[in-house]
Amino acid sequence: MATRQEKWFQKWMDERARHESGIKKTKSKVQGNHVRPRAWTEAYLEDPDGYDDLDIEAAERIMPKGETEWRQAKIIRSPLHEGIGEAKAPRANSQSLAQGTVVEIAAGVYTVRTADEVYRCALRKTLRSDHSGYANMLAVGDEVTISHNGHAQGMVEAILPRRSALARPDAVTQYKQQIIVANVDQLLIVASWREPRFWPELVDRYLIAALRHNLAPIVAINKVDLAEDQHELAAAAAAYRAAGCTVLLTSATTGLGIDTLQEVLVGRTTALAGLSGVGKSSLLTAAEPGLNLKVGEVSERKHEGRHTTTQVTLHPLARGGFVVDTPGIRDMGLAGLKREELLRFYPEFSPFAGECQYGDCTHTAEPWCAVKSAMRSGRLSRMRLESYWKILADL
Ligand code: GDP
Ligand code: ZN
Repeated sequence: MATRQEKWFQKWMDERARHESGIKKTKSKVQGNHVRPRAWTEAYLEDPDGYDDLDIEAAERIMPKGETEWRQAKIIRSPLHEGIGEAKAPRANSQSLAQGTVVEIAAGVYTVRTADEVYRCALRKTLRSDHSGYANMLAVGDEVTISHNGHAQGMVEAILPRRSALARPDAVTQYKQQIIVANVDQLLIVASWREPRFWPELVDRYLIAALRHNLAPIVAINKVDLAEDQHELAAAAAAYRAAGCTVLLTSATTGLGIDTLQEVLVGRTTALAGLSGVGKSSLLTAAEPGLNLKVGEVSERKHEGRHTTTQVTLHPLARGGFVVDTPGIRDMGLAGLKREELLRFYPEFSPFAGECQYGDCTHTAEPWCAVKSAMRSGRLSRMRLESYWKILADL
């Protein structure tokens, strides 16, 4: 079901797209200029029910020059960042605007990469996090509009709506969420086939975390050069493909699958997950020579008397896209997941589940379970079903 907020968000996105394509409005529905020139975002925040297109059009028609550009970047409630304030237009005329991505945040300095420059920016006061419910309002991965005067320094003026956000409770103020990284498109789950041995339950946990956070999952089974049984390897790959994942078979040692990995990374922001030693660094270095990844989980570090997140960095790729080195995704996999929701992450069970004796069969101890029969007759992966059982037992 599309919530009111989602509908509104869609409207906002459409509106933005229209601006970006430069299509002029033909005719306004509102005659005269008696309408108060207030931002439509403001109108929505005041009265979401009363909000409609008329307000947008009226406001747009009488907007001062330059305002349309600003509107594109207004910070507003979106399903993924709630309650953020609005940006102000830059004061000085000598300043210009640019759109970019926050690639690093350290000690209050926001490093923003635009199409052709890197700027060290401060954050406009109105964008600070005081009442946002977030410990940090702006995160690495956020797309922003900055103002700058041509030199390497600038000011973050506005944050664009997020496609995704990985958050977790803040270390200091537990009631607040800390956004670790925004706008990640996909999660590259790296698991080695051997050394360490493939661990389906962990892959499934990452997979669930990805799907719950709106990231497309990609499973890279690495170190396939160490496989003794090709059939077993192929069966594992097929099981994850049946679950709807993109599966890559890779070897950083022989170079197998590296070209496919490169294709998958282009133009997207990819976070990494996987045990230490599975070959994340080796794989990424093979795909993108020169990439200096320090792969690990986000950790807490004392910084000037208070805890802050250790640095999360977006690494730009030569052919476009980013890789983010510290997703911190392990902690957020199953938090709050209900037992009955788990099956949603095992879509390949559903064609069989309809045949189970009980409508609410959990495919564990029930008699006449068609999912278990499918597994016994080889139509369903034993590996996936066993992993489902283990995770269910934990919920
Ligand atoms: P990370 O901790 O996930 O970043 O793993 P590393 O990239 O540091 O790799 C851990 C070890 O596995 C290193 O000794 C690598 O040389 C080795 N390794 C990585 N990929 C492969 C592979 O495809 N095949 C084999 N045989 N070894 C690999
Ligand atoms: Zn069943």
